[in-house]
Amino acid sequence: MTEKLYWLQPRTTHFNAFVEESRLENGQRIIVLNQSAFYPTGGGQPCDVGRIGNGKVIAVEMAGDGRIQHKLEADVDPVVGTEVECEIDWLRRREMMQQHTGQHILSQAFFQLFGAETRGFRITDRATEIDLTLELQPSEVEQAIIRAEELANSIVFDNREIRIHEVSPEEAARLPLRKESFITDCIRVIEIADYDWSPCGGTHAQRTGEVGLIAVRAWERAKKMTRVHFVCGVRALKDYRLANRVSEAIALKFSGSREDAESSVDRLIEENKRLSRRVRELAELAAKVEAAELLEATTAKNGLRVVEHVFHDREFEEVKLIAHRLVDGENVIALLAVREKEMARLVFARSANLSADMNALIKAACEKLGGRGGGKSDFAQGGGMQIEQLTAAMDAAKAIF
Ligand SMILES: [Zn+2]
Repeated sequence: MTEKLYWLQPRTTHFNAFVEESRLENGQRIIVLNQSAFYPTGGGQPCDVGRIGNGKVIAVEMAGDGRIQHKLEADVDPVVGTEVECEIDWLRRREMMQQHTGQHILSQAFFQLFGAETRGFRITDRATEIDLTLELQPSEVEQAIIRAEELANSIVFDNREIRIHEVSPEEAARLPLRKESFITDCIRVIEIADYDWSPCGGTHAQRTGEVGLIAVRAWERAKKMTRVHFVCGVRALKDYRLANRVSEAIALKFSGSREDAESSVDRLIEENKRLSRRVRELAELAAKVEAAELLEATTAKNGLRVVEHVFHDREFEEVKLIAHRLVDGENVIALLAVREKEMARLVFARSANLSADMNALIKAACEKLGGRGGGKSDFAQGGGMQIEQLTAAMDAAKAIF
């Protein structure tokens, strides 16, 4: 069993230890020491990283028998029985301690204010998540989060002492412990003065002030619970910088203030919707005019007018509108094509009083283009990549009727 230096001395970053085991496993060096300040992944908190001798520690895990296994890159092999110098990446440890201790503080705030228990906890690359038994309406959750955030930060600003107690199960039973189902194996109790008592095996700050600002980023419903995402300390600063930069950049685009950015964006979205509606109306009008011009330029044969036209780089949706307007009247067949950069697209339509099958026509034409098409007997569309076959494709369609 490895002696856990992080257990009682969470600020130890440099230590010496004796190598008890060194072996290769799946291309990685596994090292066990007689004592270690490296926190192993567990309880929702990622492990420490750092170095053992000249080897880079990339992962740390707790084995079932209490040995801490350090995973290193494979090119080191310390001699078993020798003493090695070890160092923990303190900036990362401090970042993790801030998130982890912040979780104790925020979880107790939700418990005190709303009786909500924390049933899950994990630190991810971006934020920390807690799953709360907080059953409120969405509109009430926003307010509840603000109140919990206020209480949690007041505990931080008090800079209260955080104490570690190792207690017997009997002593633990007498303490006002916050119940958390994901903690199972220890009677090490973390006390935040006059605020919170939690059984926990993680690494914690010594005073609440070290945690820094606790800021909730978002919340969602997950697994019938309320999942709250938050950041503490250095992560809160990074997140504030990002949020500030984005909102300032948006405000600048509107020559306004950060406070007005949201309403400026709302106005832009409304304006965009209005313009889109107007563009659709104008496209309908333009299609009518263009269809009338095409009809006028087409001579009727035996009472039937076949309008054949190839457009260049036109929106296919516009061409479909023109096809619809062309066949509004009687006795018209519209064979329209769009020549784009890399493909040809076709739309065939006929008046309701005719019986020619546009589906059959489009299939014959698309086959020439090396593509596919289909639709109804009065309106069909398709296309293909063999753009040089466009004339042949139109001829194939006409040959059918
Ligand atoms: Zn803890």
